[in-house]
Amino acid sequence: MVANVCVLGATGSIGANTLDVIARHPDRYRAFALSAHSNVDDMLASCERFAPSFAVMVDEQAAQALADRLREKPVDTEVLAGAAALEMIAAHDDIDMVMAAIVGAAGLAPNLAAIRAGKRVLLANKESLVMSGELFMQEARKSDAMLLPIDSEHNAIYQCLPEAYQCGEEVSRAVRRILLTASGGPFRGRSRAELHDVTPQQACNHPNWSMGQKISVDSATLMNKGLELIEACWLFNLAPEQIEVHIHPESIVHSMVEYCDGSVLAQLGTPDMRTPIAYGLAWPERIDAGVGSLDLFAQGSLNFERPDEANFPCLDLARQAFREGGTAGAILNASNEEAVAAFLKGNIRFTAIPDIIASALDAVGIQRADSLDTVVSADLAARATAIQTIQQLQMHA
Ligand code: NAD
Ligand code: MG
Repeated sequence: MVANVCVLGATGSIGANTLDVIARHPDRYRAFALSAHSNVDDMLASCERFAPSFAVMVDEQAAQALADRLREKPVDTEVLAGAAALEMIAAHDDIDMVMAAIVGAAGLAPNLAAIRAGKRVLLANKESLVMSGELFMQEARKSDAMLLPIDSEHNAIYQCLPEAYQCGEEVSRAVRRILLTASGGPFRGRSRAELHDVTPQQACNHPNWSMGQKISVDSATLMNKGLELIEACWLFNLAPEQIEVHIHPESIVHSMVEYCDGSVLAQLGTPDMRTPIAYGLAWPERIDAGVGSLDLFAQGSLNFERPDEANFPCLDLARQAFREGGTAGAILNASNEEAVAAFLKGNIRFTAIPDIIASALDAVGIQRADSLDTVVSADLAARATAIQTIQQLQMHA
């Protein structure tokens, strides 16, 4: 039987990799619905190639432009506009699985819709889990939705946990710790002074992975590892003390699980997101992902070091936010998104990013995160505070 897939964020880096894997297996998967924010050219090309039943453009003008251009093409794709349409396609009766690959907080509502509809959710969008992990996991349990992590580290951890221990209560008993690997990003080894003048272009130039701009900056600040630490705590029911970040510059070992008997299981592979994507699509089977063999002879050695938390304070900000609980995750995420956007526009320095997040965490009151409304309010309050801080920094620059 062919499984219908909804790809949220189809024009992004994860979206394109997902479509690449789907195209290799037309007998197994159909791209039934695709979404993008406003990239008409890429969406048009994907509509021509995959003939989805639905194409959602969040930007209304982009939706109009796509509909106009599709009219001349021999494909029968219905174009929908606006963010509400994302929830509709994510929960559509004909959809079997949803690739959650929108970047940032915009992914939260459609991801929750997919979970509430009991879909298999391939979770790339870690921000939604950071914002509202408690709610997310609760809803997944209620609806029996299956959450399959696509983030390479969490996918590795998932692969190293035998089925009985996946996402269950027993994890905390059997697992001593998670060795969460991180490349260290493009600025590994630099002091705070050496980070002062780095440019957005340098920050986006990741040594091992080609990714969207936001996650590339997150990798450079180590906030990506902070978000991933929170993601792992929620997905695998672990305490932050059980997660030890290991800088591993080669990005070959995608993470490890240490059990209480001393066994350490690792998942390895060349850094290519099509591996975890194919795993998520085909689970519990395995399919070709278009990824070549790992050449350990050419690799020669694998290295591990401790993260430099003094010069890269974002990792600990995330750890603290998870410990605070409630809406602290939403505040951390929203202020980070604003800070990263301001850095990418050239409005603030790279080193201001953690300061902006720390002041948002101080200024915005933390509440219980028991509804989508509270999470969204915290997100908005944190954005407003972060924008104020950014404006003050610009005035004094
Ligand atoms: P990207 O910037 O390349 O793509 C983002 C996608 O989201 C695009 O299709 C864009 O149209 C859509 N989008 C952006 N803003 C939107 C909005 N407001 N509403 C609706 N759609 C919107 O990002 P990416 O690198 O593919 O990352 C996507 C997600 O996957 C992120 O959460 C990231 O942390 C996670 N992730 C990515 C990688 C990677 O290798 N790229 C690895 C692990 C996790
Ligand atoms: Mg990752």
